[in-house]
Amino acid sequence: MAPAERIVIENCAIATVDADDTEYATGHLVLAGDRIESVGAGPAPEGLTGVTRRIDATGHLATPGLVNTHHHFYQWLTRGLATDHNLFDWLTALYPTWARIDEDMVSAGARGSLAMMARGGVTTAMDHHYVYPRGTGDLSGAIVRAARDTGVRFTLARGSMDRGESDGGLPPDFAVESLDEALAATEATVREHHDASFGALTQVAVAPCSPFSVSTELMKQGAELARRLGVRLHTHGSETVEEEKFCHELFGMGPTEYFESTGWLGEDVWMAHCVHMNDSDIAAFARTGTGVAHCPSSNARLAAGIARVPDLLRAGVPVGLGVDGTASNESGELHTELRNALLVARLGPHREAALTTRQALRLGTYGGAQVLGRAAEIGSLEPGKLADLVLWRMDTLAHASVADPVAALVLGAPAPVTASFVGGRQIVADGGLLHVDEDALARTTREQARRLARS
Ligand SMILES: [Zn+2]
Repeated sequence: MAPAERIVIENCAIATVDADDTEYATGHLVLAGDRIESVGAGPAPEGLTGVTRRIDATGHLATPGLVNTHHHFYQWLTRGLATDHNLFDWLTALYPTWARIDEDMVSAGARGSLAMMARGGVTTAMDHHYVYPRGTGDLSGAIVRAARDTGVRFTLARGSMDRGESDGGLPPDFAVESLDEALAATEATVREHHDASFGALTQVAVAPCSPFSVSTELMKQGAELARRLGVRLHTHGSETVEEEKFCHELFGMGPTEYFESTGWLGEDVWMAHCVHMNDSDIAAFARTGTGVAHCPSSNARLAAGIARVPDLLRAGVPVGLGVDGTASNESGELHTELRNALLVARLGPHREAALTTRQALRLGTYGGAQVLGRAAEIGSLEPGKLADLVLWRMDTLAHASVADPVAALVLGAPAPVTASFVGGRQIVADGGLLHVDEDALARTTREQARRLARS
């Protein structure tokens, strides 16, 4: 076997986000192949062989790459619409447009969403895609190819909707699949794209959309399918008071009880939002190891409420961060969610004790790795883990006078990304994407957004 090529990074502050929150004021990282070989204080060990590159990272903070745990890429083409609505009114306004997407539009939306996140320090992305109009091409394949071309690690949550208006659901009937179509297509997507190996670039989860757009049968059979195939499960849950009311009216129970009754609580499940949860809901998540994708900006944009993140964390529930679709979070950036998660939590009952700056960084890194089931591979800077990391520039006007680099990253302006690596492969340099023509992509996304608006 050829000796691993090494990249040495030195002279930067490092927040490892390991179990002890180990930090170095000035330290080094050695990357060997796709892994982190060493991380520590001061300069790298002497006498390393096979060093192909040395990076003097003076003035930077190194952190694990950010992990996004909830998104809808296609919404990149429908930003800035229904801007003053709550969730149900916003969905009802947008479903007819979303139902007209095709493969070219989905590809452009995915590439736009991925580019924006990657430039902002995301190294692991996910897309919960649940709109599959008939005869519009290979939408899942287009999304997977977009992630591969951008260079990020990726989970495709193959979504589905089969409860249209005539079955008491929220989406129009023309926007939904049948139960059998949804299950068969989901299984085919897992078989085609899911890679279970250590360091996988592409994984697939089974992801019916939400209680108000999916039949009870699809929830149950979706959970059985995921467990038969050995993949994770994802959906939306407990997002708004309207959803809570819907569940009580239709199922005679709250969302968490409904999820439990359909097989949707467990270590292999993560759920977006989880805003309206009582103490027994939180205890059920903790008991079963069910994870949460917290999306503070989207929750604020849609007036959903403030998720009880401090209570979830204290109960031991795994919590990561999500951008959510860009039709409800137009910026599409995850690094701003670190700040928003902290600020929003402190507006709640725990006030200044709600969340520390380090906990905010942990949500966006290790917490995300946990809910995606990949905490053994990514989410912290430790020897043996994959070399997914970001060098944030902290010596410009925006951050140079901030005393603490982690506080600068979490509380300050969005920090420029000097370099970002996925499995040791660099995908961002000096704030720009290395494997994507951003100007051409901007034109494509604009054209496809116009096509969708006209269709
Ligand atoms: Zn969502």
